[in-house]
This record gives sequence, C-alpha cells and structure tokens, in this order.
Amino acid sequence: TKKAVLGPLVGAVDQGTSSTRFLVFNSKTAELLSHHQVEIKQEFPREGWVEQDPREILQSVYECIEKTCEKLGQLNIDISNIKAIGVSNQRETTVVWDKLTGEPLYNAVVWLDLRTQSTVENLSKRIPGNNNFVKSKTGLPLSTYFSAVKLRWLLDNVRKVQKAVEENRALFGTIDSWLIWSLTGGVSGGVHCTDVTNASRTMLFNIHSLEWDKELCEFFGIPMEILPNVRSSSEIYGLMKISHSLKAGALEGVPISGCLGDQSAALVGQMCFQDGQAKNTYGTGCFLLCNTGRKCVFSEHGLLTTVAYKLGRDKPVYYALEGSVAIAGAVIRWLRDNLGIIKTSEEIEKLAKEVGTSYGCYFVPAFSGLYAPYWEPSARGIICGLTQFTNKCHIAFAALEAVCFQTREILDAMNRDCGIPLSHLQVDGGMTSNKILMQLQADILYIPVVKPSMPETTALGAAMAAGAAEGVGVWSLEPEDLSAVTMERFEPQINAEESEIRYSTWKKAVMKSVGWVT
Ligand code: ADP
Repeated sequence: TKKAVLGPLVGAVDQGTSSTRFLVFNSKTAELLSHHQVEIKQEFPREGWVEQDPREILQSVYECIEKTCEKLGQLNIDISNIKAIGVSNQRETTVVWDKLTGEPLYNAVVWLDLRTQSTVENLSKRIPGNNNFVKSKTGLPLSTYFSAVKLRWLLDNVRKVQKAVEENRALFGTIDSWLIWSLTGGVSGGVHCTDVTNASRTMLFNIHSLEWDKELCEFFGIPMEILPNVRSSSEIYGLMKISHSLKAGALEGVPISGCLGDQSAALVGQMCFQDGQAKNTYGTGCFLLCNTGRKCVFSEHGLLTTVAYKLGRDKPVYYALEGSVAIAGAVIRWLRDNLGIIKTSEEIEKLAKEVGTSYGCYFVPAFSGLYAPYWEPSARGIICGLTQFTNKCHIAFAALEAVCFQTREILDAMNRDCGIPLSHLQVDGGMTSNKILMQLQADILYIPVVKPSMPETTALGAAMAAGAAEGVGVWSLEPEDLSAVTMERFEPQINAEESEIRYSTWKKAVMKSVGWVT
C-alpha cells in the first residue's frame, strides 16, 4: 500500500507525574496523528516521601516512541517525516546520575515529596539579609517543592551522590535534562542541558539574568559544575542517538529542539502568548499560569513568579504568575489506589453523578501540605462534615469539588494580583475529560470554562517549540494558525449566592486542615 502524503511531522515526549506519552503532530494543521501512553509507578517508601525510578521513566519514553511509530506505520505514515522532537516534563523532580556509567545514583525525588521539611526549616533560619533573598532572585518561596532543597538532601544523605560529586562524575538534572542527556547518547556524548522554564523551578536560577545564581548555589551548598547548561526553550540541543540494544532506534538522528516544563508547554499549547492570557491544567496537581509578558510580576497573594518561555536563543523571555495546587488528580488516584472505592479514574464521574452533591461533606486533600495561596507545610488532608448519611458517592463528589475550590482560590489570588479579572478560564489536562468536574468548575468560579477539543495541549506546546526552532523551521507560531482550534464551553448553572456559600464553607474546612502537624 502507498504511504499517505503529509507535511513535516513533529513528535513530543510528555513526561508527566502520572504517565509518559509520546505524540506525533502534523506541523501544518496541529492535528494529532498518533500517540501512546504508559502509566508511571510512584513509590512512597516512607510517609511523605514520593519517588520514581529514572530508569523506568526513560524506559517508558522508549516504549512510547516505539509504540507510536508502530501505530503510525499501521496508518501508512512514514516516520521519516518526523523532523523534530520536543520534550515537556514534570517540573522540579530531581535526578542525580553518574556521567560515566549512566546510572542514576538515587531514585528521582518527586516534586510532591516532603522529606526536605527540616532542610527547609534549617535553611530558612540562615537566609542572608532579608527574607526576600531567595524570592527576589527566583520568584519562589523557600519550600520542599523546588529542586534545590531536594538536591541538598541528596548531597547530605546519599553516600553514592557524595562520592560521585567528589570524583567529578555526578550530573544533576530535572526530568528534561535526564531525558535529553539519555536520548542524545548518554555516556557516549549525551548533551547535559535544560531550558529556562525548567531551570526557573530549581531555586538556583536567577530569573532576571537567566543564569545559575552563584549566591544561591553558595546558600544551598550546590557545586555548580553538576548543573546542566541552560538553553532557550526552542533550539536544537542535540540529535537523537539511541543505543541499539533498544528498539526505539527509528528516530535516530532527529533533532531534539524543544524543551518546556509541562505547565509552560501547556501555556504555549493553549496559545496564551498575550499579556493577561491564562490557562489551568488539571493533572496530578493543578497549575494556573497567567502570561505577564516581558515583565516579572511579584505576587502579593501567594502566587509564584516563573519563566513562561523563551522561544529561541535570540527571542525575548516571557514571564508568568503561577498558582500551584499540589493535589488535584492525585486525590482521584488516592481514592483508587488507597481506598479502592473506584477501579479506574474515570469511575469517579459515575459515583459523583449518582448523588450530584457532596451533601455537606468537604474534602481538603492537603496530603503534601497546602501550596498556593497558603504555602502551609503544616496542613494535612481532612474529610469533614460527615453524617450517618454520607457514602462513597458523596466523598467522590467532595473530591471533585475540592479540585474546583482550590482552583477558585488561585483564580481569586490571580485576579487580585493582575487587577483585571479573568473573563473565562482555559483548561486542559487529564482530569478535564470529566464533564461533571468541568461543570462544577464553572459553577464554583462563576465564569465560563473553555476546553480545547484536542486535549493534549502540553505535548502540542512542546511540539510547537521543537518545530519552530532555528534550523528546523517546520512550525510557524503566528497567531492566525490558531483560529481552527475548536472549544467546548461550560457555563455556570447554579446561582451566585449558592456558589459563594459553598466556597465559604470550603474555606472553613481549609482552616481545619492547617496546623495539623507541627
Ligand atoms: P500528569 O500530567 O500530572 O501526569 P495527567 O494530565 O495525565 O497528569 O492527568 C492524570 C491525572 O488525572 C491522574 O491523577 C488521574 O487520577 C486524573 N484523572 C484522569 N481521568 C480522570 C477523570 N475522568 N476524572 C477525574 N480524574 C481523572
């Protein structure tokens, strides 16, 4: 059979906290042609600890590439049309590996991990000058969330890491760096780099000068020689070079030319290129980012300042305000894996639909403390308002509502910081296939919720960055390309007063979750 004729294609690795995907898009139409997804294990070796195996993550990338190429073959699409590959990744998650053997020296310490609580307390006692030292350079509050403290913990506690640093064999990276180094050859010439968006989540990166910050590295005690080179989000970093013992050799020689932290990738994929445009992504956590243009805006209301993207070596850097919620989809996974009240994430919708209300039950999933806007490490999860009448359907409903209330909190903070309230909310991420959740979100925010019909916006953003890179040039980022995007809209359906009452009860529940651990 004849192979289908298509324009240039672009692939994207989307390495999230819950799963890895590889997706292939047509660069002319942004149409998704094929993809494959593999769920990633999370290990909880102690209370509050969250780890993943970097080798499993890498293996899942190979598997997704291979399976997607197979599927393209079945569609008669020639994979030699794939002209570039982009990477988007879970941010902050920290890996240290040996550059001579290619072996990770410890599991990846996942962004949600809480083991560094005492590290953070000790560091905060010796912040030089004023408390603004870290925040003014990085846009971030000192918290367990960011890579610097995870790396500090590895240097303090893991002999193999200490030894490798002494012997000048250690490399540090977030997941993007680990993947790009491995995919460009690993021990035989792998490129050790990251992009500005991922770097801006390490807490070692100066978001004004766009360089690793010497003073911060001294403060955290991080040897600068283990850090990756920081590049823009759209340029050729290296070429795919895959060891031949692995079958994913199909894309050998294809440039890797896009790299964005997942939330930045979604911002790009949702085409939020203008000042004031925002999107909220519902995955393991929930992340609302608002483009603030070329200005670095500092929040008065518990939001982070972060690098949004820099789409080319000579292109300007754009910034965003970000509201981060640690637990969103993770609460659904918890109901599945820990309580067993559902077998698949999708079943939550059926349970919630059966009752259509939480019947006064509120669920604050502060499993890792509370992130924005509270930044309260002392909080822990609670389910309250229970009666004899409460059943698992009400708890399911309350879990979905919790995701919506948390989003309302960060949207309120965003509106206060920006001055101009958002008129609608653009959404994406794994949870947005849940229609009840989307309707609830519109009810609780009291503004329309708008969802693109192609849900893989994170991967799309990474593909766009890769395809637009200098030397690749198969994707144009001009706004007129975007008119074809079709949207699904959810309008508020309850009355505003009811929405407010529910929200204020939620806030009461949040107050009960705070200060649980001391
Ligand atoms: P990540 O990018 O963090 O890996 P995804 O965007 O892939 O996350 O979304 C996966 C998360 O969404 C999981 O935590 C899962 O429990 C949740 N999820 C998936 N489908 C649904 C659904 N229909 N309803 C509610 N939650 C869902």
